[in-house]
Amino acid sequence: MEKTKCLIIGGGPAGYTASIYASRAGLNPILYEGMQPGGQLTITTEVENFPGYPHGESGPVIMDNIRLQALHVGADLRSGEVTEVDFSSRPFRCIVDYENEIMAESVIIATGATARWLGLESETKFRGFGVSTCATCDGAFFKNRTVAVIGGGDTALEEATYLAKMCAKVYLIHRRDEFRATLAMQNKVSETPNIEVKFNYIPKEILGEQKGFIKQVTGILLNNTKDGSELTLPLDGVFVAIGVTPQTELFKGQLEFDEQGYIKTQGVRPLTNIPGVFAAGDIQDPYYRQAITAAASGCKAAIEAERFLNE
Ligand code: NAP
Repeated sequence: MEKTKCLIIGGGPAGYTASIYASRAGLNPILYEGMQPGGQLTITTEVENFPGYPHGESGPVIMDNIRLQALHVGADLRSGEVTEVDFSSRPFRCIVDYENEIMAESVIIATGATARWLGLESETKFRGFGVSTCATCDGAFFKNRTVAVIGGGDTALEEATYLAKMCAKVYLIHRRDEFRATLAMQNKVSETPNIEVKFNYIPKEILGEQKGFIKQVTGILLNNTKDGSELTLPLDGVFVAIGVTPQTELFKGQLEFDEQGYIKTQGVRPLTNIPGVFAAGDIQDPYYRQAITAAASGCKAAIEAERFLNE
């Protein structure tokens, strides 16, 4: 059994930043990076709005830099997943990878959020065979081909412009007739000639064929949200970019959540309903969900942990 003053769960911008501040405050934090070290930014393409990169930078490079900075100041970054927590008494008993016990005087939760799926049977069938939530990971498979991106937020528009650089054609399919994405992203899309926007459509079925174990997407069947009409587009790949779900499963029954399923924190402070347990980043933020706001809340959580341990 191991003991720590500060356990940080999650290796995205919030977790790594918390580890930088907690290390510098002498808390000797231990951080478990979880299933997706680097977090959502590792599946993002060009990031132009993270301060400190005058010409923009790729998401993975930014995350690698933050991670290296955390190591530089002495953070103990570990691969592994926290699989159980008990916040009923302090120190908090946590289990890593189902077997290793760690007793933590304070815990910073920074488990973030993961991509949402449409929930279609055909989507599940062709996942990994032409259906993806990550253009950076899978875009190269569709060089000179036709793909669709589903969604109307910044992620969808960003993925569409990224894919347009390598694909022959990109359909951008959105369920309403106006985008949720920022104006800057909308302008980029309208300036990209091989993106065709299809407003007021939702996917009804992803079409494809299967020969033995080989599956292949061949098209998408859409439903018009205004008049119910159907439209079939022949294509080779579908990228789903319809938002994220906070990763809260581990903490159900132990912490308070808001009506959208995010961990409830107290105003501008990352305090949960359990003293000594803090929540930072997308897990508690349905409003901003930016790498920079996640990093900022990681900083706040580490400062709060330091104050809590001093009291
Ligand atoms: P989002 O802003 O929540 O947008 C999700 C989009 O998917 C919305 O347009 C929504 O439609 C649509 N949608 C949701 N469920 C759907 C369904 N079942 N079927 C069809 N469409 C569906 O999510 P996001 O784009 O992932 O962005 C998340 C956050 O990250 C945002 O705050 C965004 O600004 C930020 N972000 C920033 C950057 C950047 O700054 N570089 C890049 C990416 C993301 P409605 O509009 O009709 O609700």
